[in-house]
Amino acid sequence: MNSQQNPNPNLAAPCGFYCGTCSHYLARAKGKLLKKKLKHGCKGCREQDKKCAGVKRDCVLLRKHQITFCFECDDFPCENLKKLDARHVRDDGISMISNLKRIQEIGAEQWLAEQAALWHCAECGGQVCVMNGECYDCGMS
Ligand code: SF4
Ligand code: SF4
Ligand SMILES: [Zn+2]
Repeated sequence: MNSQQNPNPNLAAPCGFYCGTCSHYLARAKGKLLKKKLKHGCKGCREQDKKCAGVKRDCVLLRKHQITFCFECDDFPCENLKKLDARHVRDDGISMISNLKRIQEIGAEQWLAEQAALWHCAECGGQVCVMNGECYDCGMS
C-alpha cells in the first residue's frame, strides 16, 4: 500500500506524534512482530488507547479523552510535553510541539497526508520508521 494515498486518521496522536512512523505500529501493521521481537506492537494511539510512554500516561485530560489534541489544553505546552518534545527533537529530529502547531494550522487530515509523504520510502513508497530509519516495507535504511 502506498501510505501517501491512504493516511489513517487514527495515526495523529493527541500529543502530536505521528504513530505511522513508530516502530511498534509499523512492526504490527507490516507483520514483523516476531522479527522485531515484539509481543503485540501497537495499532496507533487513538485505536489502541494505551498509556504509551508519551504524555498520556500522566495526563488525565488525555486518558479521559477530554481533548482531541494537546493544543486545545489551557496548559499547552505543559512541562511533560516539553520534556518529551525535547527528547524526540534530540533523538529523532522531530518536534511534537511543532507538529501540534501545524495540525492546528492546517487540520489533522492535511497534516496526516504531509506526514505520510514525509515518512515514505524513496525506494518503494512504503513506510519509514522515525526511530531506526528503516523502511518496514522493503527493509531499506
Ligand atoms: S506506541 Fe505510542 S507512539 Fe507508538 S503507535 Fe502506539 S501510541 Fe503511537
Ligand atoms: S498539554 Fe495539556 S493535554 Fe497535553 S499532556 Fe500537557 S496537560 Fe495534558
Ligand atoms: Zn521501502
